Amino acid sequence: MRCGSNGAVPKHAFTMWVANDDRLPTRSRLASWGLAVPLTCPFCCALPETRDHLFLSWQYSYDVWSLVFAKCSPPSQTFVDWAELLSWIRSGASRRKILLRKLATQAVIFHLWKQRNNLIHNNAPLPPTSVFRGIDREMRNIISAKRSNKLFNSLMLLWLQ
Ligand SMILES: [Zn+2]
Repeated sequence: MRCGSNGAVPKHAFTMWVANDDRLPTRSRLASWGLAVPLTCPFCCALPETRDHLFLSWQYSYDVWSLVFAKCSPPSQTFVDWAELLSWIRSGASRRKILLRKLATQAVIFHLWKQRNNLIHNNAPLPPTSVFRGIDREMRNIISAKRSNKLFNSLMLLWLQ
């Protein structure tokens, strides 16, 4: 896997960047562009598919986050919106904890978007535990690829705890 100078995987960083600007083509976004698409979330079929619903509040996403939180300490309360996700990343107790949360968040957003697209294309999404296993494997690769870097050196222990 190729990593950028800050350790981020380009495909993860790109999806996170687009999500951060709320420019991923969720159904709410497509509808706002005038496209005749169903508005509802393809997972729960109940609420509008907005970025924050898809990535933060839907049960499936929540289950993936819960597994990630076991590795980099949960927020004091469940994320309600994107700003809370960003503030959780920044509130890490040290630079390396902030970096770990940032890398993990990029991986989560990338993989949740991928599962969402699988579902739209009629493939059943993987169970949250399998999604997490993929994220875990990628995190280990990202961290070990950068282990000569002082900041990354101790990240593996943090992630494995
Ligand atoms: Zn939903």
